[in-house]
Amino acid sequence: MINVCLCFPFRSIRAVTSSENTVIVAVVKRPDREEASVMPLIKSGFNRRYVENPNMMACYNELLQLERGEVLAQFKLRACNAIFTALEQSQEAIEITNEDQVIQYVNPAYESIMGYQQGELIGKEITEVPKSEKNKPDLLETMNSCIQKGKEWQGIYYAKKKNGDSVQQNVKITPVIGQGGKIRHYVSIHRPLHDQNKAPRLPRLQLVFLSRQFPEKIFLSTHSSMARIHSMTIMIAPITKVINIINAAQESSPMPVAEALDRVLEILRTTELYSPQLGTKEEDPHTNDLVGGLMTDGLRRLSGNEYIFAVKQPHLPSHLAMPLSLNDIPPHVAQTMENEDSWDFDIFNLETACLKRPLTYLGLKIFSRFGVCEFLSCPEATLRSWLQGIEANYHSTNSYHNSSHAADVMHATAYFLCKERVKQSLEQIDEVAALIAATVHDVDHPGRTNSFLCNAGSELAILYNDTAVLESHHAALAFQITTRDDKCNIFKNMERNEYRTLRQAIIDMVLATEMTKHFEHVNKFVNSINKPLAALEENGGIGDEESVKGILTSPDNRILVKRMLIKCADISNPCRPLELCIEWAGRISEEYFAQTDEEKRQSLPVVMPVFDRNTCSIPKSQISFIDYFITDMFDAWDAFADLPNLMQHLDNNFKYWKDLDERKLHSLRPPPE
Ligand code: AMP
Ligand code: ZN
Repeated sequence: MINVCLCFPFRSIRAVTSSENTVIVAVVKRPDREEASVMPLIKSGFNRRYVENPNMMACYNELLQLERGEVLAQFKLRACNAIFTALEQSQEAIEITNEDQVIQYVNPAYESIMGYQQGELIGKEITEVPKSEKNKPDLLETMNSCIQKGKEWQGIYYAKKKNGDSVQQNVKITPVIGQGGKIRHYVSIHRPLHDQNKAPRLPRLQLVFLSRQFPEKIFLSTHSSMARIHSMTIMIAPITKVINIINAAQESSPMPVAEALDRVLEILRTTELYSPQLGTKEEDPHTNDLVGGLMTDGLRRLSGNEYIFAVKQPHLPSHLAMPLSLNDIPPHVAQTMENEDSWDFDIFNLETACLKRPLTYLGLKIFSRFGVCEFLSCPEATLRSWLQGIEANYHSTNSYHNSSHAADVMHATAYFLCKERVKQSLEQIDEVAALIAATVHDVDHPGRTNSFLCNAGSELAILYNDTAVLESHHAALAFQITTRDDKCNIFKNMERNEYRTLRQAIIDMVLATEMTKHFEHVNKFVNSINKPLAALEENGGIGDEESVKGILTSPDNRILVKRMLIKCADISNPCRPLELCIEWAGRISEEYFAQTDEEKRQSLPVVMPVFDRNTCSIPKSQISFIDYFITDMFDAWDAFADLPNLMQHLDNNFKYWKDLDERKLHSLRPPPE
């Protein structure tokens, strides 16, 4: 780029990223007296001075000279950077000398193979570096006479490592001819001979090593001896590929990098890649208890206690025979649902108006708004029966996990499905799956956590091997209830393949509500969707429609969007208007207190000791829940779906809990003045 600058300052030119390759020309007035020094111009960043000249041809000639001179040179220099990067990353050991055979450069692979640091070699004549006595005496002579004539030499050569060991190498030395046909440099490429016919050694992965030609494949050695290579190629998991690539990079990395990569490998080899480790920072007992209570599965908390939760037969509502219709919803109930498309919709009004059966009523309205019956080819009466059947299997005795929570999650799901970005990403089958998943996601919840069920040795925990016990049960029971009776089988008229796709999506979403996977789902969403979208926006504005669409609609990413959507809907209560948020906080706290009471009664381990009704600070527990689970997740979801109203509520609510906590209050609300 040539920039002709007529006025100071030219910071705006230097500020652009391409300015390092810019030639900036100062156009100055013809000096009326003595020629002034160019030094001040050079110091302030100009590359050239050009004396003002009204003659067009003179200007044009100057530009031509610049293009062929300075600009071309800059391009060459830029290419040099790329070439040096290639040298640094090459696995071949490379050494460059000048025409007098003074070493000018060795790459990291050379350092690692020969055991020298760059600084010990650069500036030394090649003859000063010890040669192995194993070389035949006439070898050096032949080699020198060949390369000094400008010819390439290749052959087997013994080099001495710094520690005195000899290594047999295949060496290729290429003279580089410069201006005037003179030899300016010699480039030597060394390949240790034991590496010639097999892959580079990967010391950290016994038995498995990488092929230089086919880095995507690994070869298995049948013996621990590296010499015997079995030719069988096996499938390789992505994480193994990553570990192999890091291992290979370590081979040619300087010590500090290799050590840092060791730490990376240590982390990669754990299974809990997405869960932040609670360390010294997280000493707050509320966070510890919430994390312990929600994020551990039973395997780490088995008590051997034989409390049994029965896997009961699903409950059949007696009034199934006379389903109500969307048209005959009582007016006072219909009135409470008028603003169901608004985030500030008050679900507790509906709960009271419909005598604690909000899931059926809200379900009828929302499913009809999304055309679910049309999509499933199912009569409205079947949908009604289904909603009633599902709602009947929620426990109205739970203070939190009852059908109002399911209706609340369905409401949030419908709200998110209307956001522009979500609509761009999902198809109608995804929308239908999301609404059904939200409806069933906590069905038959016993009002106790997974840890409790495992500790109690409940029948469900035994059935599901202490792994995602509740979520597996919710998903399985939902399909049992649905398919057991044609009257409420909303899937009955679906084409088989479409049903399988829908079923898979519903199961995946219900399982995604399990809190042990919280950070995995959030991080995958951010890494696969938010970051690539942000990178696109940074590079070319939002103009690159095709690339944006590619990110939003890829099958893998659609799964991540759906998981994030139901997770955010499930724990969106801290983002609701303050009064609703307080009500939900009271309900979940009461359910936790009831669990602690029961754990004490049954002499079970107390999973979340801070949730003791006599001592618990509800504001502190909400602050911890928001800090640990909510803030980052909703930041990411807001960045994607654009939800300023939710973020505003979250901020207000957080301040509300902080204020109570600062006043040392433990209750849901301040005492009346
Ligand atoms: P789910 O059981 O599907 O509703 O999963 C959500 C989890 O988050 C449950 O374990 C709830 O107990 C927990 N949770 C939701 N809201 C809150 C809240 N305001 N405070 C503490 N825990 C909550
Ligand atoms: Zn839930």
